[in-house]
Amino acid sequence: MKKSTTDCFCALCRSPRKLRYSRRLTSSHLIQIFVLTLGIAAALYPWLSWKGVMGLPVVWGIFESIHKSLYRKDLKCPFCGFDPTWYKKDVKLARQRVEEFLKENPNSPVFKRTKTEDSAQKSSH
Ligand SMILES: [Zn+2]
Repeated sequence: MKKSTTDCFCALCRSPRKLRYSRRLTSSHLIQIFVLTLGIAAALYPWLSWKGVMGLPVVWGIFESIHKSLYRKDLKCPFCGFDPTWYKKDVKLARQRVEEFLKENPNSPVFKRTKTEDSAQKSSH
C-alpha cells in the first residue's frame, strides 16, 4: 500500500516537511478497525457469541487515540521543535518549547542552514 504524504513547510523555520498522517482516520483505518473487531469477536465467540462486535467503539477509540498521538508527533517540526497544536493553544508556551528544543539541540539543522547561508553570502561579496 502506498503511503500518502502531505508536503508543507514549517511555519517557523520554513523547513520542508512531509506529513505522513492526516488529521482524521482514513478509509483504510476504518477497514482495519472493522477487521480487527471481527477478529476479536470471532476469538471471543465461544464466550460472548456475536456480542463481541459490541467492542467496536472500544477498538475505534483505541485506534483514534493512537492515530492522534502519531499525528501530533508528526506535526511537530523535527528541526526547530515547533508544534502547531501548542501554538494554537498557547503561543507563549509554544515559543518556550521551541527555545527549550533549540537549547537541547544546539546542532539543529536550523542553525546549520542559517550559517551556510551566511557564509555563502560572505563569499559572494
Ligand atoms: Zn521548524
